[in-house]
Amino acid sequence: MPPKGSIIAVASRYAIFMPHFRLGFGLPLLFALLSCTACAQPNALTLTPSLVEAGSPELLHVESRRDAKPDADWLGRNVLFFSAHGGHDWFALAGVDVEAPTGPSVLRVVIGSGKDSIDLSRTVEIHPAHYRTGTLTVAPKFVAPGPEALKQIEADIKLKAKIFAASAPEPLWSGNFRAPVTAPPTDSFGTRRTFNGKLASIHKGMDFRAATGTPVHAGNSGVVVLARPLYYEGNCVIVDHGLGLWTISMHLSRIDVKEGQHVATGDLLGLSGATGRVTGPHLHWAVRWQDAYLDPAKLLTLDLSALR
Ligand SMILES: [Zn+2]
Repeated sequence: MPPKGSIIAVASRYAIFMPHFRLGFGLPLLFALLSCTACAQPNALTLTPSLVEAGSPELLHVESRRDAKPDADWLGRNVLFFSAHGGHDWFALAGVDVEAPTGPSVLRVVIGSGKDSIDLSRTVEIHPAHYRTGTLTVAPKFVAPGPEALKQIEADIKLKAKIFAASAPEPLWSGNFRAPVTAPPTDSFGTRRTFNGKLASIHKGMDFRAATGTPVHAGNSGVVVLARPLYYEGNCVIVDHGLGLWTISMHLSRIDVKEGQHVATGDLLGLSGATGRVTGPHLHWAVRWQDAYLDPAKLLTLDLSALR
């Protein structure tokens, strides 16, 4: 693979769109390209992974010959880009909610404004992910909460709304995300479940089979924005990774961090347990981007090592 911006790289990229280039008419075109310095770096938008499914986290990369930050939105959410490696490389960690409808979606990406703007918008097909269905049995108080419990649930909802309304204006994460525990993961994300045969919900996190007392670590660097007991979540720790991305650890037996504390990848957040709405000890780990829930297993396999 030739280095970016080299004659061969530029020529080969244009050759894709201009088949006659390969038929011997390419030389004058090549000189024309070389005389145009602005053409030395074509504008491009790439999505990783390229196959987009409901629940997929997506790394968006814009290569631009402009210093202007791309303006973007996707499925009603504003996509926030940050620059890396100088002003021409822009990245955003975004994604598609687990409940997003499948089919074509419009990803709008525009650089600059007015007649000089560059429009990289495209239609992105959202493929169905094949999540499972399941039934669970939990304590009756979690299916039909009493008046006291309803008061706490109400307070929890308000608190979480406040927490998720604000996020650091720059990425606080760096490099790859790491699993929060050394315990077997399950493919539980996206499972459609019934609790005690009544309440239906979609499982919006990943369960790890962690025995009570297993150390739970920060999946990446960030700031602890919530560290307290909640009704359904039990002892809960939420880490803000910036630009609307959070990881959430639930059902802990012990919390070892304070709200407002900065954490690095791998720092101890607490110990796993069985607090809140559970059927037994485990770690529930969720990834939230804006109001979308993304598959943690897919985030853990996303190569972000270049973004350190
Ligand atoms: Zn869970």
